Amino acid sequence: MNRSVKILVAYNFFIVFGFGLLTPIFAVFITRQIIGATVAVAGLAEAIYLGSKGIGQIFVADYLDIEQEDKRNWRWALIGSLIFGLATPLYILCHRPIHLYLIELLMGLSAALEYPAFYSLFLRHLDRRRKTFQLSLHNTIIELGTAVAAAIGGILASYFGFFNLFFVVMGCSLFGTVLLITMYPSLSKEEKKEREGSIKDSLSIIFSTAVIAPKVLDIRHYGDPVLRDRARSVKEINDEVRQLAADMIATMVKGDGVGLAANQVGQLKRLIVLDIGQGPTVLVNPKILDKSRKREVLEEGCLSLPGLSLKIRRPCKINLEYFQLSDGKRVKLLAEGILARVILHEIDHLDGILLMDKLYFWQRGRLKKQLLAIKQQTQQETKDREKGRKLKEKILIDTRSPLPPIPPNPPPPPTKIS
Ligand code: ZN
Repeated sequence: MNRSVKILVAYNFFIVFGFGLLTPIFAVFITRQIIGATVAVAGLAEAIYLGSKGIGQIFVADYLDIEQEDKRNWRWALIGSLIFGLATPLYILCHRPIHLYLIELLMGLSAALEYPAFYSLFLRHLDRRRKTFQLSLHNTIIELGTAVAAAIGGILASYFGFFNLFFVVMGCSLFGTVLLITMYPSLSKEEKKEREGSIKDSLSIIFSTAVIAPKVLDIRHYGDPVLRDRARSVKEINDEVRQLAADMIATMVKGDGVGLAANQVGQLKRLIVLDIGQGPTVLVNPKILDKSRKREVLEEGCLSLPGLSLKIRRPCKINLEYFQLSDGKRVKLLAEGILARVILHEIDHLDGILLMDKLYFWQRGRLKKQLLAIKQQTQQETKDREKGRKLKEKILIDTRSPLPPIPPNPPPPPTKIS
């Protein structure tokens, strides 16, 4: 288990443990402490908490998934758990059911903020090869913690009273939050490592004198699995890469696009081409170093999603690095406006992300029909391409098949020597 996962498990343990002290006896507190409260009020209060958490977390999770950023997930989990912890003593001030309902609503909303952010962080830091085990170990620790909390919560309440118990719950929750804060330096370190670990200073170049005649390639459309794969880094710049770049430029120009990623022509290489009116540029292994917090919404189209134009929210400015095709050197670039937008769009392609993934789930629902139509068209294209490939292979096999052996000349009849 790496350090981040250990911290996250410990953090979640204290949060869940704290509330585990309270949950089983909460109805007793409500019926005793709140004027006019019955068991039904306790039930409704729980329903308000679960309902607001359940609905809220769907929206939060959807938002967090659009741009997965560890630091933001961390921030949201922190804010959620802070509200959770600090709001607990408010129960002491509850005198009427309406007070209780309002606190439950606040708790539910802060849980909606905290839960998805925590899970996003947790899942991203799990050891890839031990995911199932680590996830189950987390669940076991949490469940055992809740079991112990349930056992001692009642004892604490009967000896020290509910008021003191609320402060114990707050203490557990805030202690968990402090643990979460200790994770921050490792997040920054990982981010830095990711940036610096990027790459050597230059890519090896294999020079050649081969003449490149660019050809227009088939653009892959939505439904083709290659658009959902993650492209792999280019290891060296050789003829194959140069040819692909030239072909991609020709394809982009023909398609009247301003950018194209290698996935879109069926090649899983981290290579993009773009032209926003200043001549074509090729970016090898592009990598975003920084994004501005300021975002703007603009309409975007995509050569892989014909006929679709969607309003997409993206950062206004980005800092990136990439390798130049000509000399394999690493360069940095500050891009803004339309250039930043095109680069972000194409890098999304390299990561298997398409335009509709940047929308909220209720917006995606409206596209169902259009996407289905593109998918069906793509299936036909794939079939045609496969047919064409088989035909080509067949022709090759036929032309390569050896000619029937020529029978050797019959030996000349023996000369009769008389
Ligand atoms: Zn696109």
